[in-house]
Amino acid sequence: MKKLTMIVPCYNEGEVLPLFYDETSKVLKGLDSKYDYELLFVDDGSGDDTLKKIMSFAEKDEKVKYISFSRNFGKESAMYAGLKMSEGDYVGLIDADLQHSPELIPDMLKAVDEEGYDVAASRRTDRKGEGGIKSFLSSQFYKVINKISDTYIDDGAQDFRIMSRKVVDAILEMTEKVRFTKGIFSWVGFNTKWFAHENRERAAGTSKWSLRKLIKYAGDGILGFTTKPLKWPIYLGLISLILALAELIVIICLSVGGTISVLNHLILLSVLLIGGVTLVSIGVGGMYLARTYTETQNRPVFIVSKTNIEKK
Ligand code: UDP
Ligand code: MG
Repeated sequence: MKKLTMIVPCYNEGEVLPLFYDETSKVLKGLDSKYDYELLFVDDGSGDDTLKKIMSFAEKDEKVKYISFSRNFGKESAMYAGLKMSEGDYVGLIDADLQHSPELIPDMLKAVDEEGYDVAASRRTDRKGEGGIKSFLSSQFYKVINKISDTYIDDGAQDFRIMSRKVVDAILEMTEKVRFTKGIFSWVGFNTKWFAHENRERAAGTSKWSLRKLIKYAGDGILGFTTKPLKWPIYLGLISLILALAELIVIICLSVGGTISVLNHLILLSVLLIGGVTLVSIGVGGMYLARTYTETQNRPVFIVSKTNIEKK
């Protein structure tokens, strides 16, 4: 019998949890009888009655498992913990606020179990119900990160997904501590079936994202998935050195032309030279720093999707 683990990160979701549990359990109970399932709640250090509610579900339902954090570590940590603890052959992630439609779960499971996909993921078709500023900043963020990072990060891709065990293992091989899961999903690759998903209002409670948290999240994404900014000083330095060369030519021409006072030009020449050399040096140092950073991230050198070689 194949098992599905659905991971639910929860932070102060006491208000919406009973509704979520009812709707999601109904869908999971209705799955084909060839599947077993577990509903794994990760209480991310909630200050309300989230844990109490989860424990009351677990008391009467053996399919409910939970982990409760010692404090709030953030959704990224909650998802990682869930993936680490999951037992399923297929593992899914779903938000607790019913913004992700549990009704999609059977089709997603079918895609990974029967249709040959490794991942079934939902993609937002609109940004309905999202604040204007949040919407704008978020789309600008994706534009910037996709310009400067080699990993393409899909603006509409959501965390709501079901993955096969090998995808989960690949994600867990990414051992970096500051995690940006949207980037990690893209980075590991695999064959993905996308499900169009309309934006839904949360069923109860409030969003846990403040503008400050979102800006930090964007920063984590950029720092985690590109080291290019460390090289940028080289380009600035080279511009400075080209200007220095131009200045040198000006000085030579003026001297040949008999102009006696080239002092101003000499000062400018030295500023451009010193600036150029300094910036290039910083950029070269940055390239080594980037290499060190990439090595400490310790990501897998490759990820296997299929092979006919038996593991010994
Ligand atoms: N969440 C979490 N830890 C946090 C913030 C959020 O586990 O520090 C959970 C939250 O309970 C929800 C999901 O992550 O299940 C998405 O959060 P939210 O709905 O607040 O984000 P939004 O949908 O507004 O982007
Ligand atoms: Mg939400």
